[in-house]
Amino acid sequence: MERTFVIVKPSAVNRQLIGEVISRFERKGLRLVAMKMTQLSDEILHEHYNHLVNKPFFPKLKAAMQATPVVICCWEGVDCVNVVRTMCGTTNSRMADAGTIRGDLSMSMQENIVHSSDSLENAAVELKRFFKADDYFNYTRTIDTAIYSSDEI
Ligand code: ADP
Repeated sequence: MERTFVIVKPSAVNRQLIGEVISRFERKGLRLVAMKMTQLSDEILHEHYNHLVNKPFFPKLKAAMQATPVVICCWEGVDCVNVVRTMCGTTNSRMADAGTIRGDLSMSMQENIVHSSDSLENAAVELKRFFKADDYFNYTRTIDTAIYSSDEI
C-alpha cells in the first residue's frame, strides 16, 4: 500500500478548516498513520519548496507557510499518492474542479489550503523529511475490510 505526505496549510488553519480537510481524507477511506502539528522553519521550507526558491513569489509563499503552525499527516491506501492529489485539485484554486479540496474551499494560487506529494518518490522523500520512524502507527480498523475488495490489497 502507498503512503503520501500532506500539509494542512496555514490558509486552512486560519480559516478553521483543519477538521474539514482531515475529514475528507478519512471519509474517502484512507488510513491516517502519522500526524503532528508543527511550525515550519526556514530550513525545512527551503528544502520542501526547493523547486520554487528562485521564484519571485517565494518570500511571500514562505511567510504564508509560516503564518501559523501547520498539521502534517501521512495517509495510507491503494494508489494513495494519486488519490490524494486528485482530491486536492490543481494548484490554482480558482481553476480547481468542484468537489476537490481547493476547488470547494479556496480562491487563491498561494492560499490553497493543502499540500500533497506529487509522486511516490517525492512522497518518500517528504515523509522522511518530516517524520521519524516512531511517528508512524501500524493498526487495522474494523472498517478496513469494507474499504477494498480482497483482490485490491
Ligand atoms: P502544488 O502545491 O499544487 O504541488 P507547486 O509545487 O507548483 O504546486 O507549488 C507549491 C505551492 O507554492 C503551491 O501549492 C502554492 O501555495 C504556491 N505557489 C505556486 N505557484 C505560485 C504562484 N505563481 N504564486 C504564488 N504562490 C504559488
